[in-house]
Amino acid sequence: MSTQTETTFQSIISHAKEYGFVFPSSEIYDGLSAVYDYGPYGSELKKNIRDYWWKSMTQMHENIVGLDAAIFMHPTTWKASGHVDNFSDPMIDNKDSNKRYRVDHLIEAKAEQLALEGKKEEEFAILKSMDELLAADDYVGLKKLIDDNKIVCSISGTANWTEIRQFNLMFSTEFGAISSDNPDDNKVYLRPETAQGIFVNFLNVQKTARMKIPFGIAQTGKAFRNEIVARQFIFRMREFEQMEMQFFVRPGTEGEWYKFWKEERLKWHLSLGLPTEKYRYHDHVKLAHYAKEACDIEFEFPFGFKEVEGIHSRSDFDLTQHQTYSKKKQQYFDNDIDEATGKPYGNYVPYVVETSIGLDRMFLLILSNAYEEEVIPKEDGTNDSRVVLHLPTKLAPIKLAILPLTKKDGLPEIAKELMDGCRAYFHCFYEEKDAIGKRYRRQDAIGTPFCVTIDHQTKEDNTVTIRYRDSMQQERIAIDKVKDLVLKEIF
Ligand code: ATP
Repeated sequence: MSTQTETTFQSIISHAKEYGFVFPSSEIYDGLSAVYDYGPYGSELKKNIRDYWWKSMTQMHENIVGLDAAIFMHPTTWKASGHVDNFSDPMIDNKDSNKRYRVDHLIEAKAEQLALEGKKEEEFAILKSMDELLAADDYVGLKKLIDDNKIVCSISGTANWTEIRQFNLMFSTEFGAISSDNPDDNKVYLRPETAQGIFVNFLNVQKTARMKIPFGIAQTGKAFRNEIVARQFIFRMREFEQMEMQFFVRPGTEGEWYKFWKEERLKWHLSLGLPTEKYRYHDHVKLAHYAKEACDIEFEFPFGFKEVEGIHSRSDFDLTQHQTYSKKKQQYFDNDIDEATGKPYGNYVPYVVETSIGLDRMFLLILSNAYEEEVIPKEDGTNDSRVVLHLPTKLAPIKLAILPLTKKDGLPEIAKELMDGCRAYFHCFYEEKDAIGKRYRRQDAIGTPFCVTIDHQTKEDNTVTIRYRDSMQQERIAIDKVKDLVLKEIF
């Protein structure tokens, strides 16, 4: 990260804390690494992102229904899914600093450094080699790549590395109060992804909601990963929230559905007014053996292009695994007619295309894209400044601030009446303290798109001044038009 982007990113983190968006977890005890709490405005913003995803997935698609599965699952789930044996990242330790790195992160950091030095070809070459070696699980080759490129530890400054090893990322805990001689008897995992709750409920949902293929199941919820390199604020956390949708399709149609969801998900991001040029796809070279196709939707965060969402065509791998381990059929009877045979498609294990996005990562995307330290030229030739969050109106924690110019002359009463008329429809904020300019700045800092001021003229002609966050333009409108103006922007 360059010094400038580092400074901007640090300012965003400080702003998030100062204005009640994100706090380090258990901060009075010096925090817990890679765990965060969301404050009053943060929890509201996070909920709005979750609701926007949920509505667009379930309400706006008649063939997608919701689910809320438990965090704890039968331990065999994670044997079947492959997480017990394979959910690990290749790691390497520096022997001098004892610091452990994820191999891909270490190499990517070197690539970033090369890019900053203007060595574009070398950057491209190292990333290409890394992708190929990761795809082949070639740890000897990856170690050689690290050695050949003289990659050093950022703490010790040395290249004194261990061999590359695998490290499982699942947290485990004990279940129930019964003690056993074998500690593994009571062992359960904190789910590392929400998807498996959907797979094991596939038939429950299909039958009770009478779903016909193709159909999807959507879910949001907590996931836990013992990330080794937990850094970059809420980008990589040990406890985080996912928003996932598994779409069950007839085998042979997965290619077209993969293409559909790849495009559909990018459209969802852009529907929030986010800049197209900050998005790109990254198609995976390394595919799991069961995977047909996979890609990431990447966004340009302050620290570079990074994954925010994954789209994966997973074949029938998960359902077949659960069928094998549970010894219960995970099949669907398709009575549509196959034109080739003239007979129904019959019984099969459906294929799955999934979309998986991190809610906290989306939160960081929204926050970092919205943050601006704006310089405002004044008429006398000097400059003023403000920190403003250009949050999408749909997602802003507070939609409307209602500000009586003074605390007297009946202005607060008019303001409260407006507040009572609007609060059932969207989140409003009332404030009568401090000069109006100061109150506007505070609303800019939390991203409130509209402020209305009630003044003495309001008493005469029932108009108010509405002030728009991004342009800072003000205009007078009838007080009874305020509610509809805001509603128009949020639906
Ligand atoms: P990464 O390569 O960044 O570790 P991943 O490929 O392991 O991510 P998936 O398993 O595909 O991620 O999870 C889907 C989404 O969940 C990711 O795109 C990301 O938005 C989110 N996510 C994954 N791990 C974390 C984490 N530790 N903290 C926050 N969000 C995460």
